[in-house]
Amino acid sequence: MLVLVINCGSSSAKYQLFDADRKVSLAKGVIERIGQYGSSCSDHHAAMKIIVDRLTDKKTGVISGAAEISGVGHRVVHGGEEFKESTLITKKVIASIEKYSALAPLHNPPSLSGIKACAAILKGVPQVAVFDTSFHQTMPEAAFLYGLPLEYYRKYALRKYGFHGTSHRFVAEEAARRLGKPKSQLKLITCHLGNGCSMTAVDGGRSVDTSMGFTPLEGLIMGTRSGDLDPAAVLILLEKEGSSTSAINDLLNKKSGLLGISGVSNDMRDIFKVAKGKGPKTRRCKLAIEMFVYRIKKYVGAYMAAMGGLDAVVFTAGISENNPWLVDRIKKDLAPCLPVGTKFIVVPTNEELLRARDTFNIIKRKRGR
Ligand code: AMP
Repeated sequence: MLVLVINCGSSSAKYQLFDADRKVSLAKGVIERIGQYGSSCSDHHAAMKIIVDRLTDKKTGVISGAAEISGVGHRVVHGGEEFKESTLITKKVIASIEKYSALAPLHNPPSLSGIKACAAILKGVPQVAVFDTSFHQTMPEAAFLYGLPLEYYRKYALRKYGFHGTSHRFVAEEAARRLGKPKSQLKLITCHLGNGCSMTAVDGGRSVDTSMGFTPLEGLIMGTRSGDLDPAAVLILLEKEGSSTSAINDLLNKKSGLLGISGVSNDMRDIFKVAKGKGPKTRRCKLAIEMFVYRIKKYVGAYMAAMGGLDAVVFTAGISENNPWLVDRIKKDLAPCLPVGTKFIVVPTNEELLRARDTFNIIKRKRGR
């Protein structure tokens, strides 16, 4: 069964075609600058057409016709509290994704555009939504509620949702396979350290806590996001800097984290380069690395306590997969205070494969009905 996996952003659409029975990728690519000035691709509908044309091109394509595609799996960032797992897309599901655009205004609308474009271009082909938030829907109330008056949870759905769920689920399952134990018997801490960074406590295969929150801003120090912060600091910034809420939003999401501390870059590669030298920014870069590492270690301790034990710390995404020093450093610092035999493993993430797998399973179930 051929499954097309789509990840629509505001100005891009990534795609990958899988032979889902054999779990192999047949083709992948990205359409960029969607809807931007001077671009030949005006919207997500046009982008989807380009993708299908590329896949079916007589000379360079990998399939002879769009009819060979049996299902489409879409990345959808926010599924609120409603979607606890991936789901077949119906009119009702589309209405819900629209509703949760209020919680993810930059992410859900482009996914919806992609879903509607696929429905028009690949008529009758079943589509599946795979949510970034659904893996974390197993968190208990004690972990997902904030210490605010409870009416704000009811009024505004203000709570921790967590993100990167597809990646945390994929690497937790892969780690269990490598450790040779069923996931139901494992206590894992998964660390997704890439452009965005988050950690999850996975107890018996279920997310019981995660570092990102109502938005992806909470938790670890990231490339340009601050991570955890006393909310009173935001009030001071608003007052003293005379900034608007949108300027503060920009500051916390785009100018903070590794970039703000180092004064050099949001990219760990650049920060390591400067930290190794003797330039005017060397101290700041060393500090950025220390703060990044310190917060990860702090979360490991917290999540081990939350789960009452630990079998393995699992690292994934760009920073973990390419920087052995960082993983070794965390391992060296933490090993003496973790249970004897705690493993540290690096598992490359593959969110697209998981989306293809979910899509395949849901369509197979639908056909069997
Ligand atoms: P991802 O979001 O998983 O694509 O990861 C992207 C991030 O990986 C970049 O922002 C870099 O900071 C980081 N990265 C990639 N290669 C390296 C490396 N060799 N050392 C440290 N960080 C790296």
